[in-house]
Amino acid sequence: MLKDTYKLKGQRTQLAKEIKNLGIKSPTVLKAIAAVPRHFFFPNDFVDKAYENIAFPIEGGQTISQPYTVAKQTELLNIQAGDKVLEIGTGSGYQSAILKVLGADVYTIETVKELHLKAKALFAKLGLEVHTILGDGSKGIPELAPFDKIIMTAGAPSLLKLLTEQLKINGKLVAPVGNLDVQKMILVTRNGDKKYNETEHGKFNFVPLTGTHGWHN
Ligand code: SAM
Repeated sequence: MLKDTYKLKGQRTQLAKEIKNLGIKSPTVLKAIAAVPRHFFFPNDFVDKAYENIAFPIEGGQTISQPYTVAKQTELLNIQAGDKVLEIGTGSGYQSAILKVLGADVYTIETVKELHLKAKALFAKLGLEVHTILGDGSKGIPELAPFDKIIMTAGAPSLLKLLTEQLKINGKLVAPVGNLDVQKMILVTRNGDKKYNETEHGKFNFVPLTGTHGWHN
């Protein structure tokens, strides 16, 4: 449903408050959560669930991430207007829309064709200029690198060096890394040509990263 209503706007404001209470501090991220109509990215029959703080199944056996998780990953990246951002795992397109509202230049790659096409059509309808790519994001996109920020929205078996190498100096990558059940949220900052700083930010549960450097093909 691409219609917005006062009721849904109210629910979005409530959702932003809920996420703030869970520890998200960035005013710009909270503003983006309150601004982007998440129900546009939701399966049509379940629009009433769009403003609950839950992940939800979408096509291709995938999920739209929990709003708190979207806010957390976005906050960790400290997105600035003009940042060139690579998102690995387009899914519904919701995370891309949040990044776009924050002023990022967004490149998003998805391996499931059905999801890629659906998100691409939705961005066009909404007038969001997001660069959509169909392919295996576990390799990053070397030909478009370097990026200011990289966000991985699927759970990876290990921290992929070939992705951190696609960061600019002072760039940041956020990725859930672990086993198939639970992953630690890792933030990597590239401080120099061969200097990286790594911090951990809680446990999460993502669908698996597939592809060459993921869990399976
Ligand atoms: N960011 C999405 C959103 O806002 O709806 C949520 C993404 S969902 C949790 C993870 C997505 O990563 C799925 O759509 C899945 O198909 C995709 N994915 C998994 N492995 C991938 C890979 N190697 N390359 C690109 N996308 C991948």
